[in-house]
Amino acid sequence: MNKIMQIFDSLDYGPAPEAPDQAIAWLDSKGRKFGHFINGLWTEPGQTFSADNPATGAPLADITNGTAADVDAAVKAARAAFPAWSGLKGYQRGKYLYAIARMIQKHSRLFAVLETMDNGKPIRESRDADIPLAARHFYHHAGWATHLEREFPDHVPYGVCGQIIPWNFPLLMLAWKIAPALAAGNTVVLKPAEFTSLTALLFVEICERVGLPKGVVNIVTGEGDTGAALVNHSDVDKIAFTGSTEVGKIIRQATAGTGKGLSLELGGKSPYIVFEDADLDSAVEGLVEAIWFNQGQVCCAGSRLLVQESIEERFIAKVKARMAKLRVGDPLDKSVDIGALVAQVQVERIRDLMKRGVAEGAVVYEPDGDIPGEGCFLKPALVTNVSPANTLVSEEIFGPVLVAMSFRTPEEAVQLANNTKYGLAATLWSENINLALDIAPKLKAGVVWINGTNQFDAAVGFGGYKESGFGREGGREGMANYLKPKWEKALKPAPALPVVTPAASPNPLDSHGLDQTAKMYIGGKQARPDSGYNRPVFGPDGKLVGEVGEGNRKDIRNSVEKARSALSWGTTAAHSRAQVLYFLAENLDYRRDEFAARLKAQTGLDGAEEVEQSIERIFAFAGWADKYDGAVHNPPMRAIAAAMVEPLGVIGIVAPDSKPLLGVSTLLASALAMGNCVVLVPSQTAPLSVTDLYQVLETSDVPAGVVNIVTGDSLSLAKTLAEHDGVDGMWFFGSAEGSTMVERASVSNLKQTWTSRGLEYDFTSSHFAGDYLLSKATQVKNVWIPYGA
Ligand code: ADP
Repeated sequence: MNKIMQIFDSLDYGPAPEAPDQAIAWLDSKGRKFGHFINGLWTEPGQTFSADNPATGAPLADITNGTAADVDAAVKAARAAFPAWSGLKGYQRGKYLYAIARMIQKHSRLFAVLETMDNGKPIRESRDADIPLAARHFYHHAGWATHLEREFPDHVPYGVCGQIIPWNFPLLMLAWKIAPALAAGNTVVLKPAEFTSLTALLFVEICERVGLPKGVVNIVTGEGDTGAALVNHSDVDKIAFTGSTEVGKIIRQATAGTGKGLSLELGGKSPYIVFEDADLDSAVEGLVEAIWFNQGQVCCAGSRLLVQESIEERFIAKVKARMAKLRVGDPLDKSVDIGALVAQVQVERIRDLMKRGVAEGAVVYEPDGDIPGEGCFLKPALVTNVSPANTLVSEEIFGPVLVAMSFRTPEEAVQLANNTKYGLAATLWSENINLALDIAPKLKAGVVWINGTNQFDAAVGFGGYKESGFGREGGREGMANYLKPKWEKALKPAPALPVVTPAASPNPLDSHGLDQTAKMYIGGKQARPDSGYNRPVFGPDGKLVGEVGEGNRKDIRNSVEKARSALSWGTTAAHSRAQVLYFLAENLDYRRDEFAARLKAQTGLDGAEEVEQSIERIFAFAGWADKYDGAVHNPPMRAIAAAMVEPLGVIGIVAPDSKPLLGVSTLLASALAMGNCVVLVPSQTAPLSVTDLYQVLETSDVPAGVVNIVTGDSLSLAKTLAEHDGVDGMWFFGSAEGSTMVERASVSNLKQTWTSRGLEYDFTSSHFAGDYLLSKATQVKNVWIPYGA
């Protein structure tokens, strides 16, 4: 029987190969050997490594492994190009972005084929997802460039951005990085992943053809060391990284104390929740997209199936039936569902993880049928019989492996879903709108898809919670990540505060009397320090003005625990939070003279004005509580994305020494307005202004645990807070060294940090009365909801 007859017989798909000729012709035209693209010119190839087609093993081209000198040359070119590029009118930059988008679209098939040959992903995906989304990103950001001045007044670009991307969506990740950076007026040095440099190099030709000014985009290829050289270069103003959490942590450490901007989009272990009332067939199709799209090599892959127990058996049977129909094979075949993994090391890594999981009790199902004998192919796999502690449940596999667990109640689903160090994305399926919209806010993830999955658009922010990183790409939030307020860029080192010498050498027994010792405030109660020690507070003349508790690690831990148990503050109606803050301001107002006198005693300055400013500031954030809203995006598909503003969670605040009351009022009120709970370390030199505050908090209906105050040595308390996994964000006002320490210590759970780095923040300025602070106190979750026809 001939082939066509056989197909009639089996009703199977026939082969539909995409021709690689044009991609090969392009590679040949380049001699299959590439240098870097620096300052608008190709460098001579240096030491090279081979880029291979993972589906066949065939070498495609030799790629130069960038050295520190290459990186330096690229950064210099980007620096030189920056003034002119950032000086263009927004619409002029927009014209270039628009032209790039058009060229990507015009050559979309070439890009798609080259991407598939280099990465192994099915042509169906590179053709229908990667490349159109990359073009859309440039189109969308052309518009942002044009409207920048109106939408982000008094903001400026960072300068030179170092961008490091992974191999799973090579051109798309390039677009996510380069489009917003250029729209904002930055210049860039981008390092593609070592496995997949080719479409970035083809992109260079697009930049040349649209006449992009030299040095605006520089591409340096290479391995991890090349990336590290870019991260560590002293003249880079911002690092944007997408890749593994492991490398993200290295980069967090390396950039600590440098003042470089940082955004990290890291790993995930995203839950895919199917409730018993879901449209099961749709949920199965969604699941195929969630875990077998790009062979599962997707940071937001729905890799943890959580299915309601009542439908578990039926649903798993449907999944298995569908798996049997998935076609694994030549990625250039248009009817193939699952292509090749990116490299043999990945295949081995996944096999090792599977072995570990099986040794721990997991049961693996793989459908019958053949996969190619050569190349980096794996069958789709379904893993069952696992506990939450199984390696395959806790580790990111980054391959075509789905892990299934069941739950009984919606509460259990949420608990299991959030039981991970990651928080990139989550999917849920239910025909019950009440259930779906009840669960979505409870999922700790930057993106939630309802009755859909893996939806992306340039207008909708994407990024993680927890160890999935911080910062967003796409949308307004993504644009904001490439801009700084002008005043922030011009901050100067803070003048040193006068050093107070105690009038007499302090004898611990010489206190003012017991009633002068201010207590700490933990979980809504006045608390004595665990250490059993107090520390003296001196006025500017060196005289003792009071004492505060010497807080230690244990006091911080207790405070964090109380703060975490008060997190329902974040879901209290914003209107109610506003009322509490108004009440707080009023109560401070009643006691203004007392607070002013206390400030004067500690600082020697007239405190009346600072108290007045503090009251005004708390009023300002009370007013903001119910106004700093999210947005609804209309991506070009049958859905809306609700960009919901959520609190970070628990924020550790180490308050500034200058303007001790105003600083605390500003930071505290902004954090509270947005629904965060706080562990506050008041100024070390003037803590009494803040310890008095607990009496005001008590009379203002602030729920227990929402604000906790621990006095003591700022640096050691800051370190404990920064290292604590129960703290989600850390605001530190103090020295450059202290800031570096906080940024380094924050690496354990990748909490967001905001540090003053010894610079002079003038809290009396109106910059501190609005969205600058609100954006730091929040993160955006995008909830995708099917909508319209
Ligand atoms: P993945 O798991 O996606 O391969 P990696 O985090 O290993 O993620 O790689 C993502 C990118 O980070 C790649 O471009 C890689 O070369 C680069 N990279 C790896 N190690 C480092 C490092 N220490 N510093 C900077 N970049 C690095």
